[in-house]
Amino acid sequence: MRVMPTGQELAIDGGTPTRESLLPYGHQSVGEDDIQAVVDVLRSDWLTTGPKVTEFEEAFAAWVGAKYAVSFSSGTAALHGAAFAAGLQPGDEAIASPMTFAATANCVIYQGATPVFADVSADTLNLDPDNLAKRITPRTRAVLPVDYAGHPADLDAILELASRHGLIVIEDACHALGAEYRQRRTGSIADMTVFSFHPVKHLTTGEGGVVTTSRGDLAKTLRQFRNHGISSDVRQRQSAGQWHYEMVLLGFNYRLTDIASALGLSQLKKLEANLARRRQIAARYTAAFTDLPGLTPLAVRADVNPAWHLYPVLCNLQRLSANRGQIFGALRAENIGVNVHYIPVHRHPYYRDRFGYKAGDYPVAEDAYERLISLPMFHGMTDQDVEDVICAVQKVICHFAK
Ligand SMILES: *Cc1c(COP(=O)(O)O)cnc(C)c1O
Repeated sequence: MRVMPTGQELAIDGGTPTRESLLPYGHQSVGEDDIQAVVDVLRSDWLTTGPKVTEFEEAFAAWVGAKYAVSFSSGTAALHGAAFAAGLQPGDEAIASPMTFAATANCVIYQGATPVFADVSADTLNLDPDNLAKRITPRTRAVLPVDYAGHPADLDAILELASRHGLIVIEDACHALGAEYRQRRTGSIADMTVFSFHPVKHLTTGEGGVVTTSRGDLAKTLRQFRNHGISSDVRQRQSAGQWHYEMVLLGFNYRLTDIASALGLSQLKKLEANLARRRQIAARYTAAFTDLPGLTPLAVRADVNPAWHLYPVLCNLQRLSANRGQIFGALRAENIGVNVHYIPVHRHPYYRDRFGYKAGDYPVAEDAYERLISLPMFHGMTDQDVEDVICAVQKVICHFAK
């Protein structure tokens, strides 16, 4: 009888999974202090647009180093607000990274403008400034770089191009709260920076988002846009004793509630510690995978400190006897909740059918997509969770090594 070394047979082939239960790729951490903060608001006079919204916005702006923070009901609503404040309209083009969640480019379409993409750099999967330069036309009005996985985009090069061509930069930093680019935090650099407070992100309000800016004119437009285009908020009107209001532009109800803002304020207190934990997990992963020939973690450029929303790895398919789908399936069978970020936006049927994008338009992004896997990464992971991921990845990659 042949004896298999225990734990070596892949779970997908009938072996014992590395873990008994599925480890998700991302998960929120909500403590008793967060719960108490929300309960306190529920007992107060304000459920929405009260003191907590302003308190949260001011604390958030101070934390990232921006003059203004305007909260929204989601990161997507915040992107819509930024696209509006940028003045995007029919006939305009805005250039986005294709290696992102569709919301980054969808906000351009909400404004009736045309989303254009530029390819990414192979090492970071962030917008490639050289490729971006080639896509700028007389119609281009805005650029939307994404800080993929939490690694800041090449912001100085992008801002330089933007100022030369008179473009507004809307940085999608939904992955990058707390990331540093040349000693500055994201949120303090671009014309407008967008963050999301979805539960998988660094800080959560359930649903929520924010735009930071240092331009008062943009902040004012953003505040109006999230509140039906009305020129003052409820409390300002009450304190002024005014019964009337004026609608000055066509906005939406994209307001964040006081309930959510209280959760955000409480979570903000723990952001520094949570970022440190994510960086610790990333360092452990990177050390463990450096000598694994089947995998390549993404590069970290010298002048940045990433925030590690995700930990993506690229499968080196020429050194493996399996494709990404098979490796993904094998890791899932080990109860490691891997994911893939992202199907490049231009490959979605809506973009293909409406704008005519096709396979091969952005080859660097498309090649990366065929090889990407995101490993579990969230600040609540235990040391054992991290070791389980490393163990399962080594088991699966060694099994398929050639
Ligand atoms: C999460 C995310 C968004 C959207 O944020 P929501 O709060 O879910 O609307 C946009 N862009 C990127 C890159 C994201 O990761």
